[in-house]
Amino acid sequence: MSALRLTQFGNSGVYRQIFELVRSFQNPVDLSLGQPNFDVPDEVKLAAIEAINVGHNRYGNTKGLPALVDKIKGMLVEEGSKAEDVMVTTGGTGGLVLAALSMINPGDEVLVPDPYFAIYEQIIRLAGGLPKIIDTAPSYRLTPEMIAAATGPSTRFLIFNSPANPTGVAYSEAEISSLVKQTKALGLRVVADEVYDLFTYDRAHESWLKHDADAVLVRSFSKTFAMPGWRVGFVAGPEQIIEDMAVLQQFIYPCAHVPSQIACVKALDLDMTPQRIAYAKKRDIVYEGLASHYDLPRPEGAFYAFPRIPNGDWTEFLKRCLAEKLVVVPGRAFSKQGDRFRISFAVDDELLEHAVKILVQIAKKMG
Ligand code: PLP
Repeated sequence: MSALRLTQFGNSGVYRQIFELVRSFQNPVDLSLGQPNFDVPDEVKLAAIEAINVGHNRYGNTKGLPALVDKIKGMLVEEGSKAEDVMVTTGGTGGLVLAALSMINPGDEVLVPDPYFAIYEQIIRLAGGLPKIIDTAPSYRLTPEMIAAATGPSTRFLIFNSPANPTGVAYSEAEISSLVKQTKALGLRVVADEVYDLFTYDRAHESWLKHDADAVLVRSFSKTFAMPGWRVGFVAGPEQIIEDMAVLQQFIYPCAHVPSQIACVKALDLDMTPQRIAYAKKRDIVYEGLASHYDLPRPEGAFYAFPRIPNGDWTEFLKRCLAEKLVVVPGRAFSKQGDRFRISFAVDDELLEHAVKILVQIAKKMG
């Protein structure tokens, strides 16, 4: 029999259903994937292979390979952030789980702006916390007023994601600075999920950590260097919190994948501008193609768009998508609202243009 803690997850199985759907089609038009369509850069692949060949196959330091930790610290200083400590984790997910388990006490409320990356709710519950969902529609931008209205006596944390999955919203310096003022005034600790930091299209990425040294920053190599299967990310923040997370990491993981960490040192030297430019073009294909037929926020970062379902009729919309072998993710995987769907534009331009044509046709027929 499953442990009691599993009963609180309310696993909707949306992702499993989508995976099965994709497998059932020949040549699906698959816009459901949350991972890059470019390959791991060659230099990074070669560094990992060499690391394995020369024998870096043993346990590593719990807090990460010193060369990688130093490189990350240097990068954060260059960004203007003042992190007391850094630890390498098993992807962004490893960082988020450890952050929740090391900080949340039973009954603590955690503010979660809706829509949100699906695992936030589950991780908070796993740690005994209570997710407090903040509806940010229709702008999908969190404001200081929304934070104030949702904060009560048991509210301790905010989980903040920019650039955001699934909306593509990327917050500006002015927005983050006003949000930081509010969280400080209310005594909230912030976990800033910035796993899409290299993918912003209209202005440079603005890190929460630059404005708030008490925050816990979570980043990852999964999306930015196309290595979600390699499982490397990192956390940065106050010394005591990172130390607590290291204690847990030692028992649970107990270190991030060592050959991948060696390769990640190389990754941080790479210029990913060509990939960012390619994604900016894909963003334009999606936004310019859909904006006059769908209500959708203009994606400023990450590689997702979050349009409203025509007439709000998901059943009809899904039927029409399936007839064209088009696979998207229903909004209810990310939101209590469920009136939207997520598309990933991390696919080849040709497939994306084809998908946009299908979506325009569907909107015309349903409109
Ligand atoms: N945070 C966000 C917002 C994500 O979208 C994802 C993956 O989809 C993650 C974290 C997890 O990243 P990782 O693969 O590094 O665990």
